Amino acid sequence: VKNASNKEEGGAKSAGGGPTIFDNIIAKEIPSSIVYEDDKVLAFRDINPQAPVHVLIIPKQRDGLTELGKAEQRHEDILGHLLYASKLVAEKEGIADGFRVVINSGPTACQSVYHLHLHVLGGRQLKWPPG
Ligand code: IMP
Repeated sequence: VKNASNKEEGGAKSAGGGPTIFDNIIAKEIPSSIVYEDDKVLAFRDINPQAPVHVLIIPKQRDGLTELGKAEQRHEDILGHLLYASKLVAEKEGIADGFRVVINSGPTACQSVYHLHLHVLGGRQLKWPPG
């Protein structure tokens, strides 16, 4: 399965609903460095970290959530759970005093994997605004 971390290529890709590399990670068909897991979400280290701590949190069931922009009211519970899980991950990683949660939604935001995911970033002084 192709690594989807190339931003230039990935950013131009359309937001299809087909399987992504995250399905292989959930199925543990390809290795990942898991930081947190429960029955609904999986958190693992980004393969191309943009900060000393860079963890992705994904719902185990995509259920139509290819991107945040496609969220429906029925997704409210999982969206809340993902956000709460980001705080648990930050605590586990020792960055709870300062971290950032990012969701890229759609090609204009350079989303490259069309399975909703939260980026949890920290471990260094973060700058604002982001690029
Ligand atoms: P996006 O660009 O917001 O869609 O984020 C996708 C992220 O997935 C990027 O930061 C990639 O580095 C990361 N990524 C892609 N493939 C893998 C993988 O196999 N393991 C872990 N992270 C990955």
